Amino acid sequence: MINPSKINVLYMASEADPFIKIGGLGDVAGSLPRALRTVGASVNLLPADLDVRLVLPFHPGIHTDLYPLVQIAEFKVHTIRNDISVKAYALEADGLPVYLIGGSPIEQAPGVYSSNLEADGFKYVFFSQATLNLVKELNWKPDILHANDWHTASAVYSLALNRPMDPFFRQTTSLLTIHNLPYLGAMTSSALEAFDLPPAENTSLPVWAGHMALPLGLLTADIIVAVSKGYAKEIMTDEFGSGLQTFLKARSNKVTGILNGLDTGKWDPAMDDVLAANFTAANLQTRSANKAFLQNELGLESNPILPLLAMVTRMEPQKGVDLAVDSLRMILQSALSAQPLQAVFLGTGAPPLEQAVRLLEQDYPVRFRACITYNEKLSRQIYAGADMLLMPSRYEPCGLSQMIAMHYGCIPIARATGGLSDTIQDPNDSEESTGFLFKPATSEALAVAIQRAMTLFSSDPKSWQAMQIRGMQRDFSWDRSALEYIKQYKLLLDKRTNRMMSIENMYNGYQAKRRHL
Ligand code: ADP
Repeated sequence: MINPSKINVLYMASEADPFIKIGGLGDVAGSLPRALRTVGASVNLLPADLDVRLVLPFHPGIHTDLYPLVQIAEFKVHTIRNDISVKAYALEADGLPVYLIGGSPIEQAPGVYSSNLEADGFKYVFFSQATLNLVKELNWKPDILHANDWHTASAVYSLALNRPMDPFFRQTTSLLTIHNLPYLGAMTSSALEAFDLPPAENTSLPVWAGHMALPLGLLTADIIVAVSKGYAKEIMTDEFGSGLQTFLKARSNKVTGILNGLDTGKWDPAMDDVLAANFTAANLQTRSANKAFLQNELGLESNPILPLLAMVTRMEPQKGVDLAVDSLRMILQSALSAQPLQAVFLGTGAPPLEQAVRLLEQDYPVRFRACITYNEKLSRQIYAGADMLLMPSRYEPCGLSQMIAMHYGCIPIARATGGLSDTIQDPNDSEESTGFLFKPATSEALAVAIQRAMTLFSSDPKSWQAMQIRGMQRDFSWDRSALEYIKQYKLLLDKRTNRMMSIENMYNGYQAKRRHL
């Protein structure tokens, strides 16, 4: 039953800061495991301490130089055709044990994610299988397998298939967090077959989903967590359910929503050493030095009165980059535009979107900067220097950029969806507003929201500042969310105890019956 001193949590992810980060999942996997360890030690919800361990693929571009790395295991993962060698390594990052899985499908891949979806599918199913093998090699039994998105969902499925026959995993329960439902792992079918994970048949899943990693994980996870309460509801609708809405509705007793938190140690405008000037809500006037610095860095007119808008994002259709480009064009072309503005977009992604952003700079070189790159330092300088952050996402499971922006006194203008609705309050709905929301996913609706924000910015600096301060004072730290995850872990452990007890009762009943025969 439960190890008296530790509850073992195996936290699996495709990326985690500071080792490697592409987007918000990297932020989350980089901070939640640590937060769980800290919060877990300070509450007595659980009968023992949490021993959370993070496992990542040993991606070619991963940064491990800050910590001593040791090889801890060498073994093979079987496929139906051949065996693949695995070398596993370990490091300890400020108290958090981290395992790195190496092997040819990971080493030969160009990056964390690639456009070769089939190769990505194989890589992540291999990673998932190798992780399950690794904990066996280490004889470290997870009480909870915590997987994230399609990349690690096949581990949940594999666990469920093997648990009844495998004493090592008999007590392991699973939790699967959905960060981005539409990424189902559509090209994982042949990889699942190669690793001898059969498709699900005659289940509540739609037939087409029965051989994709994420749906299979959702089918078999003991608990499913969406990354905001809003998104947990949205995934059960036709608009956001990616075809799984009916299935998810039927499993709704297993689905909950927990908002991602922010690592406020890492994202702290008072301490951030790449800023021109550090600031807090109590000395917000100091922030203006960051705006001047940013304008200067970008080669834009250094002028505190001009509203400076920004986007920091993966340039994908999900993020509404096209809506932002069109609405800026609309505003910049409009003779009615109350005042000129400046804007900067930082991001990389789909070539047509990158191109649209580059064209905007070509057409408005005095007003607009296209930074088509991944640059964390610049992102911090933008959060600290820009006045407004645009997030016109078509859907947004949680979103971290808006939280970082608010924390840095940059006011979000965002589409009312998923985690954006859960974290931003609009002046039309609340006296404690922290940003501007709009509903239809159109450039016109975004342009109206931008105009509302610019009007407040230029006509009522006091109210603007009050809104900035409210945003900065919102508690986005992990504490609350980590606690909610711990409650879910407790539920899993309670269910497990009940399950084990009922097996024990059945066994005792059976023995008693035999004695009376
Ligand atoms: P998603 O996970 O969908 O990409 P989030 O808003 O949850 O979106 O998280 C995005 C994270 O990635 C934030 O930390 C943001 O600052 C960062 N980010 C995105 N694009 C870039 C970029 N080009 N340069 C630096 N940081 C970026």
